[in-house]
Amino acid sequence: MNENPMLVEVKNLKVQFDVRDGIIKAVDGATFEIKRGQTLGVIGESGCGKSVTARAILQMVPRPGKIVDGEVIYHRRVKSNGSELIDHVRITELDPDGREIRKIRGGEIGMIFQEPMSSLTPVYTAGTHIREAVSLHRLMPIRKVETQMVEAVRAHREVTKQEAREIAIEMLHKVGLPKPEQRVDSYPHQLSGGQRQRVMIAIALSCQPAMLIADEPTTALDVSIEAQILDIMRDLQETADMAILFITHNLGVIAEMAEEICVMYMGKVVERADVVTVFYEPKHPYTRELLKSIPHVGKKTRERLASIKGMVPDPFNLPSGCVFHPRCPEYMPGKCDRITPSWTRVGRNHWARCLLYEEV
Ligand code: SF4
Repeated sequence: MNENPMLVEVKNLKVQFDVRDGIIKAVDGATFEIKRGQTLGVIGESGCGKSVTARAILQMVPRPGKIVDGEVIYHRRVKSNGSELIDHVRITELDPDGREIRKIRGGEIGMIFQEPMSSLTPVYTAGTHIREAVSLHRLMPIRKVETQMVEAVRAHREVTKQEAREIAIEMLHKVGLPKPEQRVDSYPHQLSGGQRQRVMIAIALSCQPAMLIADEPTTALDVSIEAQILDIMRDLQETADMAILFITHNLGVIAEMAEEICVMYMGKVVERADVVTVFYEPKHPYTRELLKSIPHVGKKTRERLASIKGMVPDPFNLPSGCVFHPRCPEYMPGKCDRITPSWTRVGRNHWARCLLYEEV
């Protein structure tokens, strides 16, 4: 259990999308916290609410989505008269377009997305990208990398243009981009996919965030580049005491990166524990089924991986009781389809949302 001070608390967060066919509960009461310097992994199938949760932390839920309940509290370190205080910022109460959230977004809490090409703006050089990354978390293709990076750094740190350029080059060097002094003056389309993703990581890290939200940051990359980028993130985390919220459906990556894991299903956190406990003693049937889908050393390569039976339910017509019951191998008729499981302690620092562990 990580004993570091609290950094971000997510309490009973609910995000809904009000669309023509009804209301989708994309995040339905998510609760977790992240300590300073900790890596928290969030896993689950596509559409389980991982990415919406990440965006809600920064008040970036795309329309017509809306945070309808719960709160996100950011425990910010501030200096006052030479001593350090903690300012408890209720992010969910901030104006999503206001100054305060823009200062946090991209600066104090950085974010990297899955697709660098749609995030990088090709007409900007890498430096130009930094400014846009600050406000929109995108790399703009028509601006030089240098411009985007310099603007991002200067939006969050009091440095001159020349100093910001030096920081940009240093960060590009740290993320392993070859010839960073030259690459900083290139446009995103002149870089490979792996290089663009490294520029995005350099941008996110150049603002010295207290936390990095990494949403499938390596999914589009080949395995060797992925390994390099994960190494870079780990190194920077250790040297800068940065927390990481790591979102992925790749359980192999999460096993390498995370200390604790939240498993999400249909907008709810259904299990939480440290990484070893989740992998070796999973309690929730959904987690167990997810783990069966990981390839094992020694398995014949042609052997098909297990996949979870059934489909993710229709969000407009969710099953009654436990929403996992139509797919659950341990379904208890008359119970699981009638009673909504609550958050139950199933071990030391181990929690699950399942009726197998509840005295009803
Ligand atoms: Fe399965 Fe019942 Fe537990 Fe839901 S509550 S996960 S259906 S055993």
